[in-house]
Amino acid sequence: MAKVTLSGINKWYGGTVHAVQDISFEIADGEFFGLLGPSGSGKTSVLRMLAGLEKPTSGTIAFDGAAVERQTPQARNVAMVFEQNALYPHMTARQNISYPLRIRGLPRAEIDAKVGEVADMLNIRHLIDRRASQMSGGQQQRVAIARALVRRPNLLCLDEPIAHLDTLLRARLRGELKRLQRSLGTTSVIVTHDPIEAMTMTDRIAVMRDGVMQQIGTADEIYNRPVNAFVAQFFGLHSMNVFEIDGIADAGVLAGHCGGEAVSLPDMARAHVSLERKLVIGARPSGVAVHKAGEIARDGERLVVAGRVYVAEQLGDALLVTVQAGDTTIQAMTAPDRSFAIDEPVEVSIREDSLYVFDGPARSTARHATSARSAVADRLAASQA
Ligand code: ADP
Ligand code: MG
Repeated sequence: MAKVTLSGINKWYGGTVHAVQDISFEIADGEFFGLLGPSGSGKTSVLRMLAGLEKPTSGTIAFDGAAVERQTPQARNVAMVFEQNALYPHMTARQNISYPLRIRGLPRAEIDAKVGEVADMLNIRHLIDRRASQMSGGQQQRVAIARALVRRPNLLCLDEPIAHLDTLLRARLRGELKRLQRSLGTTSVIVTHDPIEAMTMTDRIAVMRDGVMQQIGTADEIYNRPVNAFVAQFFGLHSMNVFEIDGIADAGVLAGHCGGEAVSLPDMARAHVSLERKLVIGARPSGVAVHKAGEIARDGERLVVAGRVYVAEQLGDALLVTVQAGDTTIQAMTAPDRSFAIDEPVEVSIREDSLYVFDGPARSTARHATSARSAVADRLAASQA
């Protein structure tokens, strides 16, 4: 177990790809840490540098304060599990799991005891003498995790370990992995492109985009106080609606245009309005209501936008309605027993307390997010002042 510190890490491939850009963070001893981002954002590169499979172009990595850049994965005592497990197909589960101990020359009895213990932890005792080639994908991944854990690593690195499994199995393994990590207390890092995986399993999450760190925090912090529109849209089960308000005028009542339609803005947006930048508004689908046309009063307490139903999707316990408003789409979550027809005229409304306000154009969120603040963060800051 170890505390892991990365300082000013850069990774260039071939002098042309700047895959990881000046990243610094610390993982606490025993923490379960998530590296989250879309494909190509640099997650695997960070993990491979942590594990010692790749050298940083610049920057330092320390385990419990001691520099490890020059150490091999073996010397760091790091274990890795990849999306495609690298089990020996002709070997049994027992032979695969015991392999790292056998090459270290541990006594037979000690190996048997350790393998038995870890097999119990991963519920694979009944598979112990089956060949890897005769197991399902989920069973193989359990064996791969057992093999990683059997030598009690300082750091466990997981690269999309359950991404290719079917939905039900993934949900089950999420819970199992979280319980296992908690009971062992092994410092662990999981790479994933799936926000739900990161949210459900880890203690803290680092969100990356194009090699640049966007935000580090607990799932709750990132969900409720995303630092920019990219994080807000990427994080969560349903993407946050993000749209630009332009042509803003302030004649007592703040007004502008959204998707070509004239809208009134709540007073809280006033603090964010300036001539040189567009206002970017965000709201989660759960914070957006949808109404039959003409049903809602325009009362200044909410932002109301008119449009037509693009599609309504039945999710069982909710109905997700996508509304086309000019050149903008807005998603609203509503009760599952309501019904909306394609192209039906509707209005969506967003209450002031569900609104987020971001700096900059929605589609080109500043890569360095330091100046961006969300409305919730502003409100929190205001309430603490
Ligand atoms: P992620 O795991 O988030 O998908 P990666 O760390 O694998 O991202 O890749 C980040 C960027 O670096 C991508 O643009 C990828 O194409 C590039 N990259 C990764 N590995 C190499 C490599 N060995 N050589 C050249 N470019 C690479
Ligand atoms: Mg990857």
